[in-house]
Amino acid sequence: MIDIRNLTIKKARKHLDDKDFSARQLAEAYLEEISKVNTDLNAYLEVYKDVLEQADVADKKIAKGEISPLTGIPLAIKDNILISGKHASAGSKILKGYIATYDATVIKKLKDEGVVFIGRTNMDEFAMGSSTENSAFGPTKNPLDKTRVTGGSSGGSVATVKMNGALFALGSDTGGSVRQPASFCGVVGLKPTYGSVSRYGLMAMGSSLDVIGPITKTVTDAEIVFNSIKGKDEFDSTSQNEEGINNKKTPKVIGVPYHILEGGGMSKEALNSFKESIQKLEGLGYEIRDIKLPNIGYSLAVYYVIMPAEVSSNLARFDGVKYGLHIDGKDLLDDYLKTRGEGFGKEVRRRILIGTYVLSAGYHDAYYNKAITLRQKITDEFIKMFEEVDVIVTPTTPGPAFKIGEIVNDPLAMYLEDIFTVPANISGIPAMSVPAGTVEVDGVSLPLGLQIMAPHNCENLLFEVGKKFLGE
Ligand code: GLN
Repeated sequence: MIDIRNLTIKKARKHLDDKDFSARQLAEAYLEEISKVNTDLNAYLEVYKDVLEQADVADKKIAKGEISPLTGIPLAIKDNILISGKHASAGSKILKGYIATYDATVIKKLKDEGVVFIGRTNMDEFAMGSSTENSAFGPTKNPLDKTRVTGGSSGGSVATVKMNGALFALGSDTGGSVRQPASFCGVVGLKPTYGSVSRYGLMAMGSSLDVIGPITKTVTDAEIVFNSIKGKDEFDSTSQNEEGINNKKTPKVIGVPYHILEGGGMSKEALNSFKESIQKLEGLGYEIRDIKLPNIGYSLAVYYVIMPAEVSSNLARFDGVKYGLHIDGKDLLDDYLKTRGEGFGKEVRRRILIGTYVLSAGYHDAYYNKAITLRQKITDEFIKMFEEVDVIVTPTTPGPAFKIGEIVNDPLAMYLEDIFTVPANISGIPAMSVPAGTVEVDGVSLPLGLQIMAPHNCENLLFEVGKKFLGE
């Protein structure tokens, strides 16, 4: 019996290499667990039929000594990352029947290492949401409390890791979609520096914000996965050279922008838990500095102008002709209207409308251009602040996982979930959520997350502080 509950990538690597178990046996253990819990939790939308064949290929590699850090490691993939020959729906009805024709660059890299893809995971439609309730295929339930959401939009990916349905998962983070659900489920979620991981083969949401990131049980594992997927890619012109990545420096000073906590809508318990985390960091020898980022409070507003603008343009390609669903109308325009009207859910249509509005001739200057100006200001403030402090920490979210259905009809309440996570996307800096304390709600102990942010390309600082914080 493989004890998958206590397994990490690092431990599994050693067991596989020492021949304690094979990649096939490991995959079988995961498939068995999935068969018990997935129907109820709805984390996987599809479990692939060729999992054991993939595991056999990995075992052959291991036997020949062709071992990479992730050879034979089972993982889950968010439903918006393309695997050639496999269905990908981005949690939407509009991609019904769409089969990917090529591998995303991250997939290619992982295939080269001999990973075992278990399946594709549930998500908010086109990654728009904070609870996975916007999926066309029903919400994913939080493995820690099935009446609660997993967070989103990578809720399915995070749930697979928490429920022991995969050793790690990939998600995408445009405004917090890896970190926020990681915080709700008590796992580690990394949003790398914008451009450090190729976006080729990731369905675009907000192209200037999107990045693929790992969801793992430990910081050590997040580092392993990041090292495997990062790097410049000729198919993504915004991807960057590895040379810039990992500047060597030991972090000593941690900045805390206490002023943003006031408008963050935090409960007393969540605030106390955050303060305990700060004390813990202090106890670990870090100098804590109260810092001010004057324009960071505008981040959410900036995000909800720039992101929909990019969404409205990126999603124009789903026209009923090129991909998936097609509904016949009386002429071509009617085809578009019918297909998009029925294929897209409510939140996606809302964002397309907002995006088209802020980009329209009369309002472009009033909204979009102002947001772009502020985005630069916020980014400059971070860059300047990182001359004084090595990393910055905040809570990942204002509170723990909420109930399924609790705020789904209140878009503004849902958008406020992103208040602490979007600044990192706007400025492109890396950020990671690590489990940090719990709060008791209705007799259930729910996890909270601590968000650590670092200068561009300094993921190494996140890993160092994160490992120390979690005692790894
Ligand atoms: N919750 C945010 C949104 O709804 C973030 C989404 C994401 O990161 N993909 O836009």
